[in-house]
Amino acid sequence: MTIDEGYIKYQSFWTKAPATHPAAAEKLESWRRPLFDAGLIGEYKEYGIGYGNISIRCGEPGQFLISGTQTGNVATTDRAHYSLVTAWGIHANRVCCVGPVQASSEAMTHAAIYELDLNIGAIVHVHSEVLWQRFLNVLPTTSPDVAYGTPEMANEFRRLYRDTDFRKSALAVMAGHDEGLLSFGDTLEEATTRILNLQEAA
Ligand SMILES: [Zn+2]
Repeated sequence: MTIDEGYIKYQSFWTKAPATHPAAAEKLESWRRPLFDAGLIGEYKEYGIGYGNISIRCGEPGQFLISGTQTGNVATTDRAHYSLVTAWGIHANRVCCVGPVQASSEAMTHAAIYELDLNIGAIVHVHSEVLWQRFLNVLPTTSPDVAYGTPEMANEFRRLYRDTDFRKSALAVMAGHDEGLLSFGDTLEEATTRILNLQEAA
């Protein structure tokens, strides 16, 4: 597989600041727990590269709190591992965030999905070779030509939402991002449970 993960491809405007929204960070940690324990969020140890990320709507309308870049390897997260995404431009390939860490390299993908529907309250991105192989082109699947963390990936999710079952399944496989899957939900519980149920079905 190709390790194309863990580095930020968009232009990042990061305002380093103390953590905010401690209750949301706690909630993220509690739902990240089973994902981390299952190895769905974690680290490619031989490469020292963390994978997987998780976010929840939070703060002002349109904003969301997301795990920081390269936090996949952290066993137990706290507020110091999350960043508030405050603004973005997909066309401009730009993300603004505020917090103790820079937002995940996949923050732009999350932003694009939140834009699709105000009811989408949380997003989970995991890595699993088993689930990826099993559900590639079974679940809605992004184009193999589109890499993670790019405006093209953001647009791919818009396309899936418009043209496929993604709106209903709330689950997708990223063909151009080895082992990558994504889910969303009205709540964090919903988004996380979708992935965990998939694992049971695999
Ligand atoms: Zn990934």
